[in-house]
Amino acid sequence: MDATHRVVLITGASRGIGRATAVMLGERGAAVGVNYVRDLAAAEQTAAEVERAGGRAVLLQGDVADEQAVLAMFDGLEAAFGRIDALVNNAGIVAPSLPLAQMDATRLKRMFDVNVFGAYLCAREAARRMSLDRGGNGGAIVNVSSAASRLGSPNEYVDYAGSKAAVDTMTIGLAKELGPRGIRVNAVRPGLIETDIHASGGQPQRAAVLGAQTPLGRPGTAEEVAQAIVWLLGSAASYVQGALLDVSGGR
Ligand code: NAD
Repeated sequence: MDATHRVVLITGASRGIGRATAVMLGERGAAVGVNYVRDLAAAEQTAAEVERAGGRAVLLQGDVADEQAVLAMFDGLEAAFGRIDALVNNAGIVAPSLPLAQMDATRLKRMFDVNVFGAYLCAREAARRMSLDRGGNGGAIVNVSSAASRLGSPNEYVDYAGSKAAVDTMTIGLAKELGPRGIRVNAVRPGLIETDIHASGGQPQRAAVLGAQTPLGRPGTAEEVAQAIVWLLGSAASYVQGALLDVSGGR
């Protein structure tokens, strides 16, 4: 991707796949909005790595499940860089591995608030600002879904899997709705990727253990997912629309 002068907002960019994507875009000269919730020091590290790589960065605090925070985040990006060209809907959560019968309502609601409602809110704001028919310049959205959306994740994360299935469906719908308005919309579906998200699920070794059972025999890295995201954002993928791209080692 020639991201020179491109302005990209990445949600949940303080670590993991979001950070790897931010740095890769920085290497290509992009201006990156680094969204984070609480972990300011980690977000500052992402921003520093983006700038060291040759890009520009602005820190944008905000919970994607909070509408006012999302509006402020997009306003902040445009205040810093004057426009928006792309969104990476990356922020996401898991919760401790449990069968559905043991999940409480607070957990279920938060899962959908962050992974679905947050992704829809951010996509909506991107559509409002990038659509050709609203005075925008067009652009690209990449949603970070999960292989769980087609596997279902029984006995551990059926809530998470369902939330990511909603992200897949949103991707297909928005690809059709926003394509005529100059916006490409696609998703990546990572498999078992070595990031800190597995600790929040109470299974820090999950990626290593289950990754070894994939056809490629290992877990993936955040950088391998970032490569796919950056490709989907860029002109090399100019005719790719509504794709759900598995980055799962064949899982
Ligand atoms: P991670 O936990 O390292 O990163 C998730 C990021 O999202 C963090 O920076 C976190 O602070 C942020 N975040 C969480 N809630 C937020 C909120 N309400 N508002 C804004 N930011 C918020 O994990 P990761 O593996 O890098 O995950 C990135 C994306 O990839 C997620 O959507 C996740 O579901 C997806 N994914 C990961 C894997 C994997 O194996 N690691 C597999 C499939 C999909």
